[in-house]
Amino acid sequence: MKIETKAIHAGDRKADPSKPGGFVPVTTPIYTAASYIYESTAQLDRVLGREEEGYCYSRYDNPTNAALEELMASLENGHGALACSSGMTAVHIALLAALSDRRKSILAASALYGATTSLLNKVLEPLGIQVNFVDICDLDKVRAKIDDHQPGCVLMETISNPLLRVGDMDRIAELARAAGAALVVDNTFATPLLVRPLEHGAHMSVHSVTKFLAGHGDVMGGVIVSDQEHHVITRNLSRTIGPMLGPFESYLTMRGIKTFALRMERQCSNACRVASWLASHPRVSKVHYLADPAHPDAAVIRRLLPEGLFGAIVTFELKDAGKQEMFRFMDRLKLVVRATSLGDVHSLILYPVIASHRDVSPKQRERLGIHDGLVRLCVGIEAVDDIVADLEQALA
Ligand SMILES: *Cc1c(COP(=O)(O)O)cnc(C)c1O
Repeated sequence: MKIETKAIHAGDRKADPSKPGGFVPVTTPIYTAASYIYESTAQLDRVLGREEEGYCYSRYDNPTNAALEELMASLENGHGALACSSGMTAVHIALLAALSDRRKSILAASALYGATTSLLNKVLEPLGIQVNFVDICDLDKVRAKIDDHQPGCVLMETISNPLLRVGDMDRIAELARAAGAALVVDNTFATPLLVRPLEHGAHMSVHSVTKFLAGHGDVMGGVIVSDQEHHVITRNLSRTIGPMLGPFESYLTMRGIKTFALRMERQCSNACRVASWLASHPRVSKVHYLADPAHPDAAVIRRLLPEGLFGAIVTFELKDAGKQEMFRFMDRLKLVVRATSLGDVHSLILYPVIASHRDVSPKQRERLGIHDGLVRLCVGIEAVDDIVADLEQALA
C-alpha cells in the first residue's frame, strides 16, 4: 500500500478490543462518521436488518451517543435512553411515543415549561391530539380529569417552574396506569440525583441536558430515559424522524455529567443558604423553596426527595415591586448572571414576566401566582458568601 493511502487509512478503525492490538479509549471519543463498514457485505446486511447489533448509520445509532445513552439509562434505572438535539425534541418524541398505541389525548400539568405548553397547544392540538390541563398537585382533580378525558398520556414536571410545586408522582403514576395512560415526567429541574421517575412508576423521563446535566451553559441537548416498551418505540421513531443529538454535544454532555452530582450537591446547599438569607431580608415578601416546612407540597417533598437535597432553584418576591423595580434590582447584580436557562455552574436569574410567562396576560399571571415582583434564581457553585453579597448590594 502506498504512503498516500496509508496516510488516509492507517490508525483508524482499530478501536475494536477483540482484534489483536486493538485498544479501548479510556473516555469515549467523538465519532463523527455518518456510516460504518464491516468485513463482509453479509455482516452489513445483518446489521442493517437488525439481526446483529452494530452501527451502520448515525441517524440510527452512534457510538458517542450510545455511551451517553447507556450512562443516562443507568443513572435513572431505565431500560434504555435516546439522546436528542434539545430538551424540547426529547419532550416531543416522548409524547409521540406515549401516544403511539394509545388514545390521542394528553392530560398535562397546568404549570409547565413555556415551550412545552406551546408544543401542546400550537403543534400537537392542531394535529388533532386532545389536550387538557390539570393542577397536578390536586389528586382529586387529576383523578376526575383522567376519568373524564381517558387520556393516552399524562405529562408532568417533577418540580414546576417557577413556583416549585411538586406533584405526588407515585400516586399520579398509579392513576395513569390504572387508566392505561403513559406517564411522561420532565425531570430537568430535579436531575437523577434528586428523583428517578421510572422508580416512581413513570414510563418515560425526559431531560433538557442543556441545564444541570451538561451544566456549563455550552451545550443544547435532551434525553429520554424509558422502560423497555417505550425504549423500542422511541428508537423506532428516532430512526425515522432523526431527532438525535450530535456527537460533539454528546461528548460535552458526558463530560458534564461526570461532575453533575458534585455540582448539584453544592448548588443545593448554596440554594438552601440563599433561601434562608432571602427569607429574612426586609425587601423580600415571599420565598418559594422546597426546604420550607410550610411549602404546600411539603409531605410529598419529604417522601420524594432525598434528605437535604432540595434543588438549586429559589424563587422569591420583592415587596410591592413592579417591572421597573425588578429591572433595577436585576441590573444592579454584578455576579449573578441575568440570562435565560438554568442549571449552570454560575448563578442565573430570570424574570418570568419577560421570559417564561411573557405571553401570559397580566390577569392570568396573577391567577397563576406569577406576580410582578417574582424572580427565579438558579444558584450556581460559586462561594455562597459571594452570591449572598451580590444579592445584598443589589437589594440595598
Ligand atoms: C429548558 C427546559 C426544557 C427545554 O429544553 P431545551 O434544551 O431548551 O430544548 C424543557 N423542560 C424544562 C423543565 C426546561 O427547563
